Amino acid sequence: MLQIDKSQLNELKKALSSSKNIVITTHHNPDGDAIGSVLGLYHAFRAKGIDSRMVTPNGFPDFLGWLPDADKIMHYSRDKKDVEDLLSNADLLFCLDFNGFKRVEDMAEVLEKSPAKRVLIDHHPEPESPFHISISYTEVSSTAELVYEVIEQIYGESIINYESAVSLYTGIMTDTGSFSYACSRERTFAIAGKLIAKGVVVEDVQGLVYNNFSENRMRLLGFSLAERMKVYPEHRAACIWLSRNDLNTFKHQIGDTEGFVNYPLSIKGIVFSVLFTENEGFVKVSLRSRGNFPVNTFSKLYYQGGGHKNAAGGKAFMGMDEAVKQFEELIAKHSIELNS
Ligand code: 5GP
Ligand code: MN
Repeated sequence: MLQIDKSQLNELKKALSSSKNIVITTHHNPDGDAIGSVLGLYHAFRAKGIDSRMVTPNGFPDFLGWLPDADKIMHYSRDKKDVEDLLSNADLLFCLDFNGFKRVEDMAEVLEKSPAKRVLIDHHPEPESPFHISISYTEVSSTAELVYEVIEQIYGESIINYESAVSLYTGIMTDTGSFSYACSRERTFAIAGKLIAKGVVVEDVQGLVYNNFSENRMRLLGFSLAERMKVYPEHRAACIWLSRNDLNTFKHQIGDTEGFVNYPLSIKGIVFSVLFTENEGFVKVSLRSRGNFPVNTFSKLYYQGGGHKNAAGGKAFMGMDEAVKQFEELIAKHSIELNS
């Protein structure tokens, strides 16, 4: 079992008992772990009779919309004024699944201005320090797993109801690629077992998240692999690049390209994969690796980003052609590491 630092836990208990306006938030472009963690904590608080509000910087993919009370999450990009009012009156703010304010993009200023005490619960390395209480552990599979530990260590596991359990399970499942990576600790499976005991049906969650895509998304995936994937076996690397035009052709919706970056890693010998998607003013970069090649360091060096050793993100402030060309130069430069 992970023993969370006692002084941080005590601080958190004190803050919880003296706070009235609690807000839970997470990073921009929230994924399954982000939304699962937010809802998992929200439902545990509810079970304890504690009201809280949930806010994300922007919207999230449809395949997470079925999670209980996902429709109660406010989006800063859509509900600006309401979110500003909420945060200016908040006294306790939970920041889940991110390690610095840069990760909430436009919403950073609103968080900085908020008088609320800030609590970090996160599993990314090197958290920044604008947090009053920092619960940061990198060995857990996901933030959802860490949220489980926090709830259990504050209130005991009996407080976790089905709604909280299914949210946390979804977070763990999505961040580990259905228990295939970042989950080599026994504890992750023990927690998954405890969540199943609360009524989570594994096949149903798997189906709701992964068998719920639009036809367009499937065709975009096919197109990406057939027409937009470049493989560099000599550097054990690959990339996929998608222009705005490509995305528009397949009526791209938020979340549609989630998971694409993993596919090239299924090619024999490939240990490093990058997905470039064209945005307004920059190219979004998604990086994944197998084994020792640290994509967070790579992203920090070249894409002003970061993340985990095997999963990171960032931005390239250039056109698509230039981004791919630069990538080819970079993998040539790092070829020895990629081959070792
Ligand atoms: P994704 O490729 O799914 O957008 O992100 C993969 C991981 O990288 C996420 O878990 C997130 O922690 C991290 N990440 C994504 N984008 C950024 C970024 O711009 N900056 C930092 N520091 N981390 C990022
Ligand atoms: Mn995560």
